[in-house]
Amino acid sequence: MNEPIYVTRPFLPPLEEFLPYLRQIWDSRRLTNNGPFHGQLEGALRAYLGVPQLALFTNATIGLVTALQALRISGEVITTPYSFVATAHALVWNNIEPVFVDIDPGTCNLDSACIEAAITPRTTAILPVHCYGNPCDVAGIQRIADTYGLKVIYDAAHAFGVRYKGESLLLHGDLSVVSFHATKVFNTFEGGAIVCPDSKTKQRIDYLKNFGFADEITVMAPGINGKMNEFQSALGLLQLDYINKAISLRKKIEMHYRKSLAGIDGIALLEPTADTDGNSAYFPIFIGNNYPLNRDRLYERLRAAGVYARRYFYPLISDMPMYRGLASATPKNLPHAREASERVLCLPIYPDLSEEEQNFIIDQLLNI
Ligand SMILES: *Cc1c(COP(=O)(O)O)cnc(C)c1O
Repeated sequence: MNEPIYVTRPFLPPLEEFLPYLRQIWDSRRLTNNGPFHGQLEGALRAYLGVPQLALFTNATIGLVTALQALRISGEVITTPYSFVATAHALVWNNIEPVFVDIDPGTCNLDSACIEAAITPRTTAILPVHCYGNPCDVAGIQRIADTYGLKVIYDAAHAFGVRYKGESLLLHGDLSVVSFHATKVFNTFEGGAIVCPDSKTKQRIDYLKNFGFADEITVMAPGINGKMNEFQSALGLLQLDYINKAISLRKKIEMHYRKSLAGIDGIALLEPTADTDGNSAYFPIFIGNNYPLNRDRLYERLRAAGVYARRYFYPLISDMPMYRGLASATPKNLPHAREASERVLCLPIYPDLSEEEQNFIIDQLLNI
């Protein structure tokens, strides 16, 4: 193999199909601030995802920061250390203390059985992540939230298009934040959205993402600039024409990995979650003691062969310098997260990964 194979490769439609959108932007001079493509994309995504309301953002990190603002979250928030750093950073940008709890090793999602012990009088919300697009224990988390009067905001960055028990996974919790970053299942170069239940909440979110402006002279809140521009929105509209095909190609790749790696000594896989129509966003494997190499040796061996697998998520957020001093970051509080983080390797998965490339990757894993 000559070309390196990365863990993901952004999907883009044919360039010719984007040109008419560009011409419209150039001709109209509508570049941003709730332009026509922005409105069209919000409508198209509501329909595609099956959600009542949705507010587009320039990226999911600003979406997370804004979601916490929208619900006036403060004090402490219970979250997972096994995620991308933006999950905890969004809390710190709101002057909120992250309280880490362990994950369920069967899903790598925040373990709902660990939440209650972490609740204090300062706790106001739970911020779980649908890791790899696999649904959290949404019912268990909601039960606890209802009992203790907590809000639930899902970091659903990985969960575009995932359906659980016949409806969008994004309907759970008070808010869900999805990412349209280049590396995600659906991309608008960079982008994201907050999914919310009603138009009143969307209104507040829309104010907050536009500096707090309600009209030309009225500023309702100390908002941020989180707006998605017309260039991003236009790409999103075009991407929607291809999303079903892109996800079905991902699923085919996942199935081939599962078939080829099932029962291999020293390689463990996550079981698919029941009642879930997933998006095959990631393909994590977990390297056990019976495998001939440890995870990091395998990671390096693959790189030498031109296969750039990624250790999502390593290191744990709770091990990073700005978090490791927190009481909840202590390793004995997070044994399953630590174990997953030391064993995980995410294999390349993206719509135009060829069968030949995939077989090459599998050969590298089997013939060590
Ligand atoms: C990608 C990602 C984010 C951040 O999304 P951006 O759109 O890049 O800001 C947040 N959380 C998780 C779990 C992610 O994977």
